[in-house]
Amino acid sequence: MRAPLSKTLPVAAALVAASMTAGYAQTAAPRWYKGNTHTHTLNSDGDSTPDEVVRWYREHRYDFLVLTDHNFLTAVDGLNALHGADERFLVIKGEEVTDRLGDKPLHINGLDVSTRVAPQGGTSVADILQRNVDAIRKAKGVPHINHPNFRWAITPAELQQVRNNKLLEIYNGHPQVNNAGGGGVPGMEEVWDAVLSSGAIVYGIAVDDAHTFKQPGNPDAAGPGRGWVSVRASRLEAGALLEAMERGEFYASSGVELTDYRASAREVAVTVKPTAFSKYRIQFIGKGGRVLSESLEPTATYQVKGDEGYVRARVIESNGRMAWGQPVVVAPREASHAGETALLLVALAGLGALLQWRTRPSA
Ligand SMILES: [Zn+2]
Ligand SMILES: [Zn+2]
Repeated sequence: MRAPLSKTLPVAAALVAASMTAGYAQTAAPRWYKGNTHTHTLNSDGDSTPDEVVRWYREHRYDFLVLTDHNFLTAVDGLNALHGADERFLVIKGEEVTDRLGDKPLHINGLDVSTRVAPQGGTSVADILQRNVDAIRKAKGVPHINHPNFRWAITPAELQQVRNNKLLEIYNGHPQVNNAGGGGVPGMEEVWDAVLSSGAIVYGIAVDDAHTFKQPGNPDAAGPGRGWVSVRASRLEAGALLEAMERGEFYASSGVELTDYRASAREVAVTVKPTAFSKYRIQFIGKGGRVLSESLEPTATYQVKGDEGYVRARVIESNGRMAWGQPVVVAPREASHAGETALLLVALAGLGALLQWRTRPSA
């Protein structure tokens, strides 16, 4: 997807950004880059070579791909020499750090890690997650916590304890990861809302977790093309893309494309790129997963009131495909009203003093 910048940054950030870029006319305007951050090859339990895997994504019009084999850092320089192209396609190195506690699989992706990260182990689910997140950060990578409901391994309470992790899989295309929850266990969106409602800022990502490229059309195989992110970044480069993701400058999708998504402390706006056969429902969600408002049009804007805790958007397409816009934290406006009132009182007092002085009889 290619669309111009339009996500409204918070005003202060926008002013800083404007002042920083004012002298650099040639700086490219941010645009959208489509990518998948969770993919396997023959270097772990995938069914295809890195070359075949990369070829699939490039031929299906993705802009970037992260190869994340289990506990293996697949080399990407040769792949980029073959398939990479400036501003057209990029392969980023990565690893799925694959740990466990008993029979609970605990998998954390390390995107663009500088070196292979060995599973760190630990004494509890939260401890193991934290140790691996910390090890990935130490290796200069960006962590994301994978498929919490795979073998029902990770609860919302455990996710809430993890620090320095910004990205959480809320949709994973593997057919055994229980995205929707069940049997009393919450689905991934409910988990995400629970984590957000606890005060942690975590952005929701959608991924393929693709293993199988040789069985197209088999819904029971972990095929490619099911979950992706679209990132607004200034250039197709690992650092720029991952920094944008950790700022929430992206949306996640299981099949719905957006032409625009903007989220600021004042409003959240969604524009769907409609397809001829589909209808859409756009919902704005606040703290606790509460639906704040709903639109039946492919374009919708929500005006932030200030008491929502956070606001995010969800698009539901008539065949069950979804898109998820990243949340913006909102704060009550009382503080700023109090500030405005105080400023007004000071101004009135000053005006009163001035009038008193002007009307004083001259000696
Ligand atoms: Zn995994
Ligand atoms: Zn995986």
